[in-house]
Amino acid sequence: MPRWSLHLTSLVVVAAAAATAVSSLPGSLLAQAPAAQGRAKAAPDVPIEPKAPASVKEGATWVPPLPVLDQVAPPQGWQQPGEETPAMPLTLLRLPRTNIWRAKFPALDFHVHARGLTSKAAYDELIALMDDIGMGAIVNLNGGTGAELDKVLAEGVPYKDRVANFITFSADGINEPGWSQKFAAEMERAFKAGAQGMKVSKQLGLGAKNPDGSFIQADDPRLDPVWDMAARYDKPVMIHLSDSIGRFYPIGPKNERYEAGLWHQKGDETNNYFKSGPSNDVIEKARREMHRKHPKTRFVNAHLAMLYYDPEKLASFLDTYPNADVEISATVQDLGRAPRFWREFLIKYQDRVLFGTDGSQSRGADEFWRPHWRALETLDEYFPHPAQVRTPLGSPGHGRWQISGLGLPDAVLRKIYYQNALRHLPAMRASIERQLAARAEGAR
Ligand SMILES: [Zn+2]
Repeated sequence: MPRWSLHLTSLVVVAAAAATAVSSLPGSLLAQAPAAQGRAKAAPDVPIEPKAPASVKEGATWVPPLPVLDQVAPPQGWQQPGEETPAMPLTLLRLPRTNIWRAKFPALDFHVHARGLTSKAAYDELIALMDDIGMGAIVNLNGGTGAELDKVLAEGVPYKDRVANFITFSADGINEPGWSQKFAAEMERAFKAGAQGMKVSKQLGLGAKNPDGSFIQADDPRLDPVWDMAARYDKPVMIHLSDSIGRFYPIGPKNERYEAGLWHQKGDETNNYFKSGPSNDVIEKARREMHRKHPKTRFVNAHLAMLYYDPEKLASFLDTYPNADVEISATVQDLGRAPRFWREFLIKYQDRVLFGTDGSQSRGADEFWRPHWRALETLDEYFPHPAQVRTPLGSPGHGRWQISGLGLPDAVLRKIYYQNALRHLPAMRASIERQLAARAEGAR
């Protein structure tokens, strides 16, 4: 049972207030929402047209609040049906489509899981894919540690103008004495051997636990020497903290991620944190604290710091911490469903946003990679987004909808595609410049 189920008071007041609250969104679902547990009633209806508070003038804009947990909860007694999510309908709209092949500029993908780069053949296969789609360079987040990393780095020497390998953080053994110094020493060894940064997965915040069963958060003092080591070598920390907001809500038909196709099978609660995880607020707070404590460490926050659900929060995060950059992988489904809004946002924060896909060698060029180019470069409308997850019948599990393109201006596109990334990876600059020159030559 979720621990906030104790707060059963003023349920109706909270739900009513949620429908009329102003844009100052309470950060925590927990604070807003007593859970539905133990009540016999059906979950309250979410107003289709939320009413602005009286203080908002006619014609002015406001931001409706997030649904509270109760509004998303399924009715009492509801069970997962165990049925497949239907396929996406095929659109009958005949709209113009830009013929997209390669990225407009050689992009640097800051978020790739290029597992198994331990042979020449593996590298060659990856480079062929990159050439096909016009990818200038990638960051491989799956370098690993120890002997595995050494092998990846050794095989990667001839390809180091296209592939930047990162050491992969691991919290294994974190509860043992001396862990911090031991892991920091491994980082130092990796940086000296050619690793160009470090990847941290969401195991921090949502996976690794203290002996007492509580989750280890990113501001844990045992991690201070780790973040400091990255700063000492001026290497970026590519960090995935928290998760999609829908995963902190109850599973049920009103949860966007459920509708998209997740958790339909009986008993499936994969990566849903409603019952047993920390709240998103706890993880977000630890993220801010980590940035505050380590101003000299370069943090690249994966997936727009998972704050794409609340652009005001994302803006305030970027405004507060100059050492925070963000990367857009696995958010294209959300950017592309509000393309006019996000176009303005990305133009405003054009110096802080990096390109990323969360892709791997197995992802298809047309199904996965090129939709990224279409989404960022064109004003094409209503096309499939690059799905990170697909249900058995092919519906995109992170968003059962189509998107439209942001049509970013070239100057902004260049920053997001490679210029911002090169601040963190100066060793890749010559390569990208060579590729730009080759393209200019080819166009002549
Ligand atoms: Zn990833």
